[in-house]
Amino acid sequence: MLNTVLQKTQGCVLKSSDKKQITGVRIKTEKKFGLKEGHFIVCRNCGNTITTPERMISVNEQHIHTFTNPAGITYDIGCFSSASGCIVYGQPTLEHTWFEGLSWSLSLCSHCLVHLGWFYQSGNENFFGLIMDQLADSTTP
Ligand SMILES: [Zn+2]
Repeated sequence: MLNTVLQKTQGCVLKSSDKKQITGVRIKTEKKFGLKEGHFIVCRNCGNTITTPERMISVNEQHIHTFTNPAGITYDIGCFSSASGCIVYGQPTLEHTWFEGLSWSLSLCSHCLVHLGWFYQSGNENFFGLIMDQLADSTTP
């Protein structure tokens, strides 16, 4: 299983700084993505402020991950260290998890309750994987 995770990262540039190790998944702060600092990432459905570009992180060397769930729906999810506009819903489970060793719960918009993604956790480590199509960039919160 660990080899599967490692293979996905081959060919990517590795940075040794501020990297954390959690059960086969690597998390680090990431600031190089297109969204601008000082902007806000909002719910596309209702405009509620969800998080900010400063909260973007990479997991296994990638910010954006593309996954297909057992129902055959494909998602592009972006990883964020926190998302104050989300509520976490449901009991954490490891079933069909997309990140080895991390359990997931649903993440919903705290205002309109639309499904925005998932909250992943293992011990004290956690992050949000948010569906990029459900988010929008905004200059105002
Ligand atoms: Zn919303």
